[in-house]
Amino acid sequence: MAQTLLETLNSATSLLKEKNLPNPRSTSELFLSSILNLKRVDLYLNREKILSEKEKDKLFFYLKERISGKPIQYIIKNTGFYGLEFKTDPRAMIPRPETETLVNEVIQHFIKKESEPIKIIDIGTGSGVIAITLAYELKNSFVYATDISKDALELALENAKIFKVEKRVKFVLGDFFDPLKNKNLVDFFDCIVSNPPYVKDSDYKNLDKEIKDFEPEIAFLCGDDGINFHKKIAKEGVKYLKKGGLLVLEIALGNAEKLLEFLSSSSLYNQIRIVKDLAGIRRVVSGLRS
Ligand code: SAM
Ligand code: GLN
Repeated sequence: MAQTLLETLNSATSLLKEKNLPNPRSTSELFLSSILNLKRVDLYLNREKILSEKEKDKLFFYLKERISGKPIQYIIKNTGFYGLEFKTDPRAMIPRPETETLVNEVIQHFIKKESEPIKIIDIGTGSGVIAITLAYELKNSFVYATDISKDALELALENAKIFKVEKRVKFVLGDFFDPLKNKNLVDFFDCIVSNPPYVKDSDYKNLDKEIKDFEPEIAFLCGDDGINFHKKIAKEGVKYLKKGGLLVLEIALGNAEKLLEFLSSSSLYNQIRIVKDLAGIRRVVSGLRS
């Protein structure tokens, strides 16, 4: 029997609930919005719509994938971030909402200085979400974006093209600052930003199965110290950052104070601050190059 959109939504929700998946209603809404190319609120305005066989098959496929444990964003190949929709697939980590706090810090710092050209580097760009959002929001910026994963950089370039910022975001492959070496970029940047891997090897096993089974391991693992990569970026970054330039790093729950102490004692940075994410977690540490 033909089912209306609302009936389909209800049966998809029941199925996901039966399989004990979290947020069954909103997942079903996201699937149907993606398949029907409708905003979530518009699903309800179209509640009497009858789905075609093709649309129903697609929903069935999405539900099967979700039941197998695949993250929603890899199924619909899309993640909303800072009001933009990023192409998302297993070539890179799924952008996280807490990273919006990091991006917002940079935007708020530079928004008033928008007439001057702003040069930014994003270390470990992944899907390109930080670099591209900054280029998109700060029209007078130029962003270098590095990653050690060739796959991630391919996805990031596709995303840059979607938002038409590919001329202002340069993607470079390599380890941390290596791609900047011998390029006359000493004292060049106004900002260094990074969401580096920050899950200790010994904690990785405790992450959700969804993450371990589907997202690239290299995006998370940081060795045996959760602030290793942050220290490395802060120390090596000094060379590339102008005096007064901004360093902004995302950090794991419980580690912000440790990084703040490290930065304060090194005297390489001043005006060091911790910023909470929307969940109230001390998630971002920033400072100015002394
Ligand atoms: N910036 C993206 C975001 O916020 O969604 C991705 C962040 S993810 C936590 C860390 C990224 O750092 C991954 O894309 C990973 O490939 C990259 N990465 C890991 N080790 C690296 C290294 N040694 N040099 C450069 N990038 C690295
Ligand atoms: N915030 C991510 C998570 O725990 C971790 C990302 C990172 O290692 N930088 O899902």
